[in-house]
Amino acid sequence: MPKTLTTCIYCGCGCGLYLEAEDKEVIGASPSYGHPVSRGALCVKGWNCYEFVNSPDRLSAPLIKKNGRFQPSSWEEAVDMISKKFLSIKTEYGPDALSFLSSAKTTNEENYLLMKLARAVFGTNNIDHCARLCHASTVTGLSFSFGSGAMTNSINEFEEAELILITGSDTTAQHPLIGSRIVNAVLERGTKLILVDPRKIELSKYAYLHLAQRCGTDVAWINAMMHIIIKENLYNHDFINERCENFEELKSGVLDYTPEYVEKITGILKEKLIKAARLYAKTKKAMIVYSMGITQHTTGVDNVKSLANLCMLCGKVGYASSGVNPLRGQNNVQGACDMGALPDLFSGYQPVSDPAIRKKFTDAWGVDSLPEGPGLTVTEILGACNEGVVKGLFILGENPVLSDPDITHVKEALENTEFLVVSELFLSETAEYADVVLPAASFAEKEGTFTNTDRRIQKIRRAIAPLGKAKPDWQIISEIARRCGYRAMDYKDPSEIMSEIASLTPIYGGVSYGRLEPYGLQWPCPDKEHPGTPILHKEKFTRGKGHFTFRPYIKPQELPDSEYNFTLTTGRIYWHWHTGTMTRRTSLLEREAPEAFVELNPDDAKDLNIRDKEIIKVSSRRGAINIRSRITEGSLRGVVFIPFHFKEAAANILTINAVDPEAKIPEFKVCAVKVEKIKN
Ligand code: SF4
Repeated sequence: MPKTLTTCIYCGCGCGLYLEAEDKEVIGASPSYGHPVSRGALCVKGWNCYEFVNSPDRLSAPLIKKNGRFQPSSWEEAVDMISKKFLSIKTEYGPDALSFLSSAKTTNEENYLLMKLARAVFGTNNIDHCARLCHASTVTGLSFSFGSGAMTNSINEFEEAELILITGSDTTAQHPLIGSRIVNAVLERGTKLILVDPRKIELSKYAYLHLAQRCGTDVAWINAMMHIIIKENLYNHDFINERCENFEELKSGVLDYTPEYVEKITGILKEKLIKAARLYAKTKKAMIVYSMGITQHTTGVDNVKSLANLCMLCGKVGYASSGVNPLRGQNNVQGACDMGALPDLFSGYQPVSDPAIRKKFTDAWGVDSLPEGPGLTVTEILGACNEGVVKGLFILGENPVLSDPDITHVKEALENTEFLVVSELFLSETAEYADVVLPAASFAEKEGTFTNTDRRIQKIRRAIAPLGKAKPDWQIISEIARRCGYRAMDYKDPSEIMSEIASLTPIYGGVSYGRLEPYGLQWPCPDKEHPGTPILHKEKFTRGKGHFTFRPYIKPQELPDSEYNFTLTTGRIYWHWHTGTMTRRTSLLEREAPEAFVELNPDDAKDLNIRDKEIIKVSSRRGAINIRSRITEGSLRGVVFIPFHFKEAAANILTINAVDPEAKIPEFKVCAVKVEKIKN
């Protein structure tokens, strides 16, 4: 049976696996034993990442909505309609009446082409993608502090760490390969684990210290740790003097964050704060790991900058098993950012506002000019659709009707969009609102690259031909460009697109398909001889000196009150991925986790007379859902947790669309809700 080496479609670990195919069907997946990251391991999602490919629900032809109903069409008719409509909107209302949502599930080449289509063909910077909803705070915060918004170290270094401080990451559920490495390090090598998380999660069992903070109080506990480290003179004077700037601002800023004061804000006992601070400062090989529990706040950027401060204060960056390590969520969310699917940056984080950079892209793309002002973010695009400012929207493989905050508002925005195009595998909840739906090829049916969380650019390879009339997104985007009269998008295959990316993107400068065989390269890889970079900021920070920025503690936007008296926090579970379009079409995963649930503390359940597994009502100022209760000691009193995968009880009906002022990331991790028994 033919086996094709490729990269997992789910999380940012980027495990290597083989797809097994028979005729036109992918019938199995198995691990790659030679893969340097996954080394023969896969989690349950990886083992089952093939089943959705041949699902009978796959879209097999373009669909055009006529009189409120979808009718199959030819590619010719669909692409013709899209190009004419988008060009007429541009002519009538200007380029910024169009917007593009790219995708962390598609390849680097496809993300690059969509941003080229938006900028070169339609003249707008209104392009963004779902990193806005997960790690925009990382891109903004770490870029500001270090000069690079990516994981500083590599997955293989977890095993050698003496200490791992994990916060805001249910790692064994969301990045299982990394989670298992961390558990093994604890069990087999005696690595100490400090966990800072408001819930009791799987990793709590292995934690040397578990600090359960109140949701949204992260800046306070991080400042307290720095207060203790400075007070006890445990900080790294030489590192700060030689490699950092603005230390005095931090030093005076954290003066007030005594353990006693911070215990009142966070609920973490002061003795635990002191113990954690001493341990982190005194341990040489100490890695900070975080994910969306840190980033998805109105203070997401402050949280990230504060973790960077803590790391620099102790000089723990630039060598093996150290640094600040954001775990990027989706398989290619790192790559989608790298490719400039962002409203203010070209590929490689090159600002659209820089005239020299704009000239480089203008010359390469053969256009007269490119837009220089920043475009709209995901949340701003949907707001502009609602207001009728954005009239044409292209969504590449994303599902904002389930993934974005305040779903009622999202649905209104899509209903109000004059012309909506969605490229998808399935008729998703979002695609239902489209005027034209395009059938996209899955990862098993195309070539390209994904970039995982430790910056490893890896190939995906075609195991079967595209099903039905589906096409890879890079071909779809190129055809729209051609139909609009733009010729500089004629590519023979994705390797040609990567050559163009390398020529314009310094951190990918030495990348070519030949060099990516078999297991990829870690960026920065600036030239053809460069071996790639497992550890960032070795001699100096990417920005030169590491920058300390003191950030004060600011409360979340919406805290519990007398009416909505619980805190809701949302997230993922082990068995499903994102909005479930793929995992919920996978029989084993759906069998194990077929429905939504709300986790509730036993004392809260007793107060409300709620039994385990009872259908209850959870409501916020935005809406209400009925959902099954799961009573667990894992939830703090007054806090409920709901996974956001399930359309039947969509958590994002409840969440608030308040955003971080810099990164514009929504506050998915804190809002106020009411929990009620449903009376018979
Ligand atoms: Fe796929 Fe992530 Fe599981 Fe690896 S850990 S198999 S990348 S879902």
